[in-house]
Amino acid sequence: MTKLSKEELELLHKVGDIVHDVLRYALKIVRPGLSVLELCESLEQRIRSLGAKPAFPANICINDIAAHYTALIDDNTIIEENSVVKIDIGTHIDGYIVDAALTVSFSPLYDNLLRSSLAALKVIRDVLRPGITLGKLGHYIERAIRAYGFKPIENLTGHLIRRYELHAGKSVPNVDNGDNRVVLEGEIYAIEPFATDGEGLVVDSPKVTIFRLLPVPKKKMSKDARSIVTVIEQECDNLPFTFRWFKDKIDVSTAIEILRRNKVLYEYPVLIEKGHGMVAQFEDTFIVTAAGAEPLARTLDIVS
Ligand code: MN
Ligand code: MN
Repeated sequence: MTKLSKEELELLHKVGDIVHDVLRYALKIVRPGLSVLELCESLEQRIRSLGAKPAFPANICINDIAAHYTALIDDNTIIEENSVVKIDIGTHIDGYIVDAALTVSFSPLYDNLLRSSLAALKVIRDVLRPGITLGKLGHYIERAIRAYGFKPIENLTGHLIRRYELHAGKSVPNVDNGDNRVVLEGEIYAIEPFATDGEGLVVDSPKVTIFRLLPVPKKKMSKDARSIVTVIEQECDNLPFTFRWFKDKIDVSTAIEILRRNKVLYEYPVLIEKGHGMVAQFEDTFIVTAAGAEPLARTLDIVS
């Protein structure tokens, strides 16, 4: 992997600072009674007002929903008392992406669950360095979470990030899966220990709130599909999106139908904990340096 230039490093740190700001802001406004729609829109608006773009829609996943939920256009979900709320933010400038998340709970019942995921992220900050294997990182995550009596979610992973590529091939497991590939200097990883009091697995729900465009040549699409794709592309650069962002520009239900028919739509199902356990997640994006790793969003500084 080619080394990151000074300009690239500066840009990544700038994006990291924006994500840090947005997560801090999220922590300030999130409360029982707030609607998920309002929360998503305020967070995305803040990203844009700070000069960046969402790398994916603001994800707000409550209780046993583990990942891939963003508010729908007419979403009337309200954050309830005693819920466990995961706030996952992806932001980029020119394709330089930072992905980070934190969890808040409005009940002391789940303090230890949150602590277990947080402890795992802390261990990662200390052990991530060139030469460590992906499986070993999973081992550290699993051990930290199990020390609190919880389970890591086995089929969710952290991921290598490249420019305009959120999942660039290598995955960082939440358990030791025996992957002997090593971490290299200059690589960028989003690492996200997921902890649960359920079964430790997620399953697809029938619901979809987040989409991505598949790389289908425009000449293979119908004319109406082509014009919708053009609108989405201009905004999303092939990163994940929500139709909520286009509600004033396109007729959404018709658009979904047309894009499905043209096979250009990748759909991310909402992921739910298999045993309906509560799920906690803390995440940061790290640049691997010669000596260790640098956290870009500094998630741990916000919550500990
Ligand atoms: Mn994330
Ligand atoms: Mn991630």
